[in-house]
Amino acid sequence: MPVYLDYNATAPLHREAADAMASLAEQPANASSVHSFGRTARAMLDKARGTLASHLGVSPHEIIFTSGGTEANNLLLSNFDHIITTAIEHDAVLAACPDARLIGCDRQGRLVLAALETELQACQRLKKRAVVSVMAANNETGVIQPFEEVAALCRHYCVPCHSDMVQYLGKADINLQESALSFASFSAHKIGGPGGVGALWCRSGEHLASLLRGGGQEQGRRAGTENLAGIIGFCAAIDCIDIEALRAQAQWRDMAEAMIMSACPQISVIGSNADRLANTSALYLPGVAAQTAVMMLDLQGFAVSAGAACSSGKVKPSHVIAAMGIEGAAGHVIRLSGGWQTSEADWTGVAGAVIELYKRGAA
Ligand code: PLP
Repeated sequence: MPVYLDYNATAPLHREAADAMASLAEQPANASSVHSFGRTARAMLDKARGTLASHLGVSPHEIIFTSGGTEANNLLLSNFDHIITTAIEHDAVLAACPDARLIGCDRQGRLVLAALETELQACQRLKKRAVVSVMAANNETGVIQPFEEVAALCRHYCVPCHSDMVQYLGKADINLQESALSFASFSAHKIGGPGGVGALWCRSGEHLASLLRGGGQEQGRRAGTENLAGIIGFCAAIDCIDIEALRAQAQWRDMAEAMIMSACPQISVIGSNADRLANTSALYLPGVAAQTAVMMLDLQGFAVSAGAACSSGKVKPSHVIAAMGIEGAAGHVIRLSGGWQTSEADWTGVAGAVIELYKRGAA
C-alpha cells in the first residue's frame, strides 16, 4: 500500500464520517419538508450545525453550509466591491476576485502587514463595501499567517476581515468568539469528511446575500437543498479532530527535513523560519523538476504533490512560490503533507526516498 502524504489536497475519509453518511443512504432527507421525514432531517441538520459551531466557539445560526471551501469563499467575496487579499491565496479566492488589491509576502511566505495597512488607509477614502481576506494557513507551504493581527488591524480601520481556514481547521485550535475576524471558510474533505461540503461562518450582525438564486435555505444566505448526508459526514469528521496527535507530526516532519538537508545540503525547506502547520513540508529541490520528483516518489510508493494540482491533474507553476520571490524555485518545489494515518516511519521513509532521488537526479 503506497504511503499517502497529500493530506493538504484531500484527506482520507474517516470511518465515522462514512458510517454517518451511510445511515442516511435510503432515507428521504429534505430538511425543509414539514412531514416527519423532513422534521427528522431538520433535527439532524441542526445537530450537525451545533457540532461545527461549538467546535469553532460560535453560535449555530452563524454557520452557513455550502458545497465546499470554494463556494464559501465565493459567497463571501461576492458580497463586497472592494477586496484586499494576498498574492498567496488559493485560487478559490484569487479567481473569485480578479480585481482585488493584492498584498505581497516576505521570503518566508508571511504577508507584509505594513502593505496591508497602506491599503486599509487608502480604502477609507473609497465609498465601497470593503473586506480583507487573508488565509489562515497556506496549502502549499503550510505557513501560518498572522490572521489575528490582520483582523485587529482591520477592526481599527472598520473593515471586516475574512479568513480562508480550509487548511487550518483540524490542525490548530480555533476560537472565533474571541477573534477579531468576521467571516471564515471551511471545507470537509481536508479533515476526513466528504468532498463537496463546507461552511462559511458569518458573525452575527454581518449581512450576507446569497450568491445562488433559489430557495431561502440557510436563512436566505445559501439557496439550494442542504446536502444533509455530506453535512453529517462533515460533522462526524469534526468529532474526530485530534489536534494534539496532529501536532506530533511536527517532530517527525522536522526529523525528515533534517535528514534530507544533512544528506543533500542543496535542498531547502520553504518557510522554515515561519510558523507552519505541523503536517506540511515544502521542499525546494534545485535542479530537479518537481513533476518528475512526484512521479519518481510515486514509483517508490509515496504519494506527494508538486504545488497546487489544477482540475486537469496537471501541475502549474506555483504563484505562491513565485510571490515569495525565491529565485528559480517555482517548478522545483514538492509538498509532503501528512495526517492521522501518517507514522514516523512514513516520514523517515519519504525522507530516504527524496535523498535517493535527489542524489540520482542532481548527479
Ligand atoms: N482554500 C484552500 C486554502 C484550499 O487549500 C482549498 C482546497 O484545496 C480550498 C480553499 C477549496 O476547498 P474545496 O476543495 O472544498 O472547494
